[in-house]
Amino acid sequence: MRAVVYEAFGGPMEVREVPDPPVPPGGAVVRVLATGVCRSDWHGWQGHDPDIRAFPHVPGHELAGVVEAVGGGVARWRPGDRVTVPFVCACGRCASCAAGDQQVCENQTQPGFSHWGSFAELVALGAADVNLVGLPEEMPYTTAAALGCRFATAYRAVLARGRTAPGEWVAVHGCGGVGLSAVMIAAAAGARVVAVDVSADALALARELGAAEAVDGSAGDPAAAVREITGGGAHVSLDALGSPATARASVEGLRRRGRHVQVGLLPPAAGPAPLPMDQVIALELEILGSHGMAAHAYAPMLELVSAGTLRPDALVARVIGLEDAPAARAALRTAGAAGMTMIAPG
Ligand SMILES: [Zn+2]
Ligand SMILES: [Zn+2]
Repeated sequence: MRAVVYEAFGGPMEVREVPDPPVPPGGAVVRVLATGVCRSDWHGWQGHDPDIRAFPHVPGHELAGVVEAVGGGVARWRPGDRVTVPFVCACGRCASCAAGDQQVCENQTQPGFSHWGSFAELVALGAADVNLVGLPEEMPYTTAAALGCRFATAYRAVLARGRTAPGEWVAVHGCGGVGLSAVMIAAAAGARVVAVDVSADALALARELGAAEAVDGSAGDPAAAVREITGGGAHVSLDALGSPATARASVEGLRRRGRHVQVGLLPPAAGPAPLPMDQVIALELEILGSHGMAAHAYAPMLELVSAGTLRPDALVARVIGLEDAPAARAALRTAGAAGMTMIAPG
């Protein structure tokens, strides 16, 4: 198959012929028809993710396509089925999986990190009956591929973890891929959204996607600005970027009994994120983590996408071919900020 590969952290990426991935027992090989370019791919390429241990490596974890082959023991899927997959693939056997919490599976795999990913014509995925999600017939692959990482992650962070209710104020710190998805989802849920970012372009996009207010994170104290706009603080606040500064600003922008949701990944290289625990107790704040979304939880989100209430396709700025992907690697770092780049290998 053709794939985007690199041989060293930070080294050149090139498209070349590599062996097809074997079909894992209980798993599937999917022919990739669309795959999103995500900031996590940049972190992986830079060596920030300890799951990447061998070279050559193929990145990519937000994908949709068609089942090419299934391994022994797979009951629910056949070649030709249209599917996507959460970026956290679960084992289906551990205590977390048994509890329905596949997003924090104890033996999780992540394509593009723990093994070769989806910047390729084919990708192998484990535990197909647990992890694959069937797509509605009319849903384009580029729309579906946008769901697996940023959109499903934002959906669960805003609704399941943040428990966002109509009329509440929701602050979103960092308007890249996850943040813009969160803005759209919170606005669709009837919340009033304050978007915070250092980029005027990102804030303009956030307004287009439903943010009622926008705060320039580079000017003054963004948490104070959020408290001012919301009359005392947000009910729900997300750090959608993942940095010590945005995590702290998110917590400091909450009102009494507010909920902070950490959804942006905090790579170890950035150091620990010190939080104002005195405020956590004084204001009875909740500090919540949100890590992807299990495949079994996709159905309500897919219905809202099919109905046009949620528009992940609105986040896709451009679609490129596999051969153009290495040239787009400079865009990895800011992936999402100027709209999503989608690769269509097929
Ligand atoms: Zn991602
Ligand atoms: Zn598991």
